Amino acid sequence: MRDEDILRHARQLVLPAIGAGGQHKLMDAHVMVVGCGGLGSIAAPYLVGAGVGHVSLVDGGHVDIANLHRQWVFRSDQQGMAKTTCLGAHLTALNPNVVVTCHHQLFDPTLLQNVDLVLDCTDNARARTLIARSCWNAGITLVSAGVIGMNGQATTFIPGKDQPCRDCVFPEDDSTDDACAALGVLGPVVGQLASIQATEAIRHLVGMNGGLEGRLMMVEMGEIDLRFIKLKKQKNCRFCSNI
Ligand SMILES: [Zn+2]
Repeated sequence: MRDEDILRHARQLVLPAIGAGGQHKLMDAHVMVVGCGGLGSIAAPYLVGAGVGHVSLVDGGHVDIANLHRQWVFRSDQQGMAKTTCLGAHLTALNPNVVVTCHHQLFDPTLLQNVDLVLDCTDNARARTLIARSCWNAGITLVSAGVIGMNGQATTFIPGKDQPCRDCVFPEDDSTDDACAALGVLGPVVGQLASIQATEAIRHLVGMNGGLEGRLMMVEMGEIDLRFIKLKKQKNCRFCSNI
């Protein structure tokens, strides 16, 4: 590790859970962030700040004024620009040592080559299902989160015979609606869930135990409540029971 790396990451290197060994694991990792909206635009800077060696961004959208109350990485003068371009520039300026790859497109399973971990930061069920199934088939850990109104949820899917997949947990979830547009969303609550995703990703990359796999974390900021639901693999799952 270079002197600059030691200085840059000094505050996390002293954490027993990270240390030099964990930092090397982060610097060797390739994380893909699918969706550069409220979740992805906030989670990605944390990953780059932590020194994850390669971060790939996937989003076919453009910056819109209605995004800015929660996607504060973007600026008003960037309206109409590709989100991946704007966020990519921000990340490179934050930490020039990280390789940032921008895919201005919808998610495609072929993008997953050489990816160690994926953050699902999309906002509709059809995309989430495709991402989850693709990661499962590729054996890639998936950290998923979603927010509607003032409530959010997060979990981690680790492909394996004993683990629930996304279809086990959300068996009939096929909608394509943009829930944020229909039901609204409070900006800081999105930031909370994005931070949880980034934390969970770092935990898994450095090899910490006891993450969100097999558990759905439910953050309810309307009533200020935090709950965990145990997730189970379903014998008759429409996806993983056939594999
Ligand atoms: Zn399943």
